[in-house]
Amino acid sequence: MKTVLEINLQSLEYNFNKIKSLVKPTTKTMAVVKANGYGSDMVAVAKKLDELGVDYFSVAYASEGVKLRNAGIKTPILVLIPQAGSFDEITNFELEPSIYSFHFLNTFIAYANEKNLSNYPIHFKINSGLNRIGFKEDEIEKAFKLMLNSNRFFVQSIYSHLSASEDPNEKAFTLQQITSFEKSIEKILPKLSHKPILHMSNTSGIINYPESEFDMVRCGIGLYGFSNTLSTTLKPVHKLLSTISQIIQVSKGESVGYNRAYVAKEKTKVGIIPLGHADGISRSFNKGGYVIIGNKKCKIIGNVCMDVIMVNLNGTVANEGDQVIIFDDKNTAENFAESVGTISYEILTNLSSRIERRIVS
Ligand SMILES: *Cc1c(COP(=O)(O)O)cnc(C)c1O
Repeated sequence: MKTVLEINLQSLEYNFNKIKSLVKPTTKTMAVVKANGYGSDMVAVAKKLDELGVDYFSVAYASEGVKLRNAGIKTPILVLIPQAGSFDEITNFELEPSIYSFHFLNTFIAYANEKNLSNYPIHFKINSGLNRIGFKEDEIEKAFKLMLNSNRFFVQSIYSHLSASEDPNEKAFTLQQITSFEKSIEKILPKLSHKPILHMSNTSGIINYPESEFDMVRCGIGLYGFSNTLSTTLKPVHKLLSTISQIIQVSKGESVGYNRAYVAKEKTKVGIIPLGHADGISRSFNKGGYVIIGNKKCKIIGNVCMDVIMVNLNGTVANEGDQVIIFDDKNTAENFAESVGTISYEILTNLSSRIERRIVS
């Protein structure tokens, strides 16, 4: 045994179908597979979702889209945060960029003129309150006109992103974002002779705000089995397993690991697990983080090392070679994340390429 990340494609299928059952049958689904499919295996996940009939993929950067195309994915791919400088990658691999800033738009128009592009599919991004990327309400008309007048692009979609769709305390703000998006659309839609796809919801939007459904939903974390709403049952796709490499005994007063960060208060059985901060287990895990060995929670002790963590095995009958569960479908990545005050998104996307992925189907 060694450290392995299992990716369960049956759970992925279950989640995909569950998400589809939450939206109208005519609503398209876009699978968000950025960051290696939230730390899983982007290609394996995308191939499975393709089989299941997903309508669109999205990635953050052009290089991720290239990886999907090289794996044979033919479904349309939206690049959420393309950078000026990746136009060759975008056009050579038929990726569809977001148009989100004047800088990006102007440089893309110059490129499109030079290459004589026509009807190139783009996605117009509106900033309705997240204040990340996109055009603000007072820039929309100018940007849209500039884009249309270039005569180089086809508006495949117009979209925006919610800022707090998982938070019931921010309901008023979210509804205001949806209204702002609708107002912006009203201003620019009449300038087109076709109806582009409109979209706004992420996973929590799908669950909490049917008002934000429009023509398509963008589902990321939900496909991998998480949502902040407990009422919806999804199945975690990621399972991170390891093993006990070695067990050592330390006496009261002896320290464990770098900087002597842990000092044993009693005779302690210490397990060494081959997984460290180079694998995505951050140093903050020495503050309340734990793993599961033989159904028991074992606390991570001392500083997390680059390649290993140490855990307290007192009260267990654990042996060298025994299996260690970092997270699975019962002790989820969300629980693991919460033990140190972070979110499942961060835990999953940090899982480094050094960890072997094993596809379970
Ligand atoms: C990452 C991302 C998503 C996916 O969000 P989830 O909460 O994981 O469903 C959707 N839209 C945009 C613009 C994103 O950047």
